[in-house]
Amino acid sequence: MSLGSFASDGLDSKRQRALPIPPASASMKTFTPDSSIASDVIPSANYGDRAKGRLPDMIVLHYTGMPDVEGAIARLCTAGTDVSAHYIVLEDGRIVQCVPEAKRAWHAGVAFWAGEEDINSCSIGIEIANRGHDWGYPDFPLRQTAAVIALCRGIMLRRKVPSHRVLGHSDVAPSRKKDPGEKFPWHSLANSGVGHWVQPAPIVRGDPLKLGTISDDVRHLQQALARYGYAIPLNGKYDATTMDVVTAFQRHFRPARVDGIADHSTLTTLQALLASLPNEAMAAAR
Ligand SMILES: [Zn+2]
Repeated sequence: MSLGSFASDGLDSKRQRALPIPPASASMKTFTPDSSIASDVIPSANYGDRAKGRLPDMIVLHYTGMPDVEGAIARLCTAGTDVSAHYIVLEDGRIVQCVPEAKRAWHAGVAFWAGEEDINSCSIGIEIANRGHDWGYPDFPLRQTAAVIALCRGIMLRRKVPSHRVLGHSDVAPSRKKDPGEKFPWHSLANSGVGHWVQPAPIVRGDPLKLGTISDDVRHLQQALARYGYAIPLNGKYDATTMDVVTAFQRHFRPARVDGIADHSTLTTLQALLASLPNEAMAAAR
């Protein structure tokens, strides 16, 4: 049997829809995927060089946040939109690469994590096909989650990305972004060795810190969030930025209640995460 007939046989090829390749991408130079599990390459016009030859040691996960994947692929690949990502993971688990990992894709925008502002230069961006909060926010199918895990594991191994540097877009841009959101199964990723996560502390009654509070406890909360990597003022005021960061933290690490209020469960979960960070991460945060 020739490889060609093997590849075109079987259930999968009949079940899968053809990939929507934007016209401009069809004429662009293709490349060999960096990940052995990427099934397709749709070259994007939107990328540049990583600043000062910075090597990626972070993964930023996104959702596409558009009603259909055709529109998302067109947006991420067509010149002039000024956005892109290294990979797109479709709902059926197929993985498309759009930008070579060596290049700087344009996925994070204005962002910050652990002292770095040029997140695009130090990260690999992965877009996960999901309509997002504005379009009904469906669950992430298991097949898609499994593909994200496999893709991330390969990148982590090849690029030496530590688990605590696998983050969501909302972590690095908390006032602007919600993706991949509180439905994203971070616990499943962590069970497979992808991302830093601890079991969230149970939600109990108590006196929480919230918008408007001014106190040393707020300052300690801000210091703890900053130590973990978030961009947050250390002014002791529970201001709008602090609330945005607490909300982003909850979307990722305490998804049962996302309300921007620092309750006992949120504070305890944050302390447990800090306590379980590897030593080199703590050294970098000081
Ligand atoms: Zn995003």
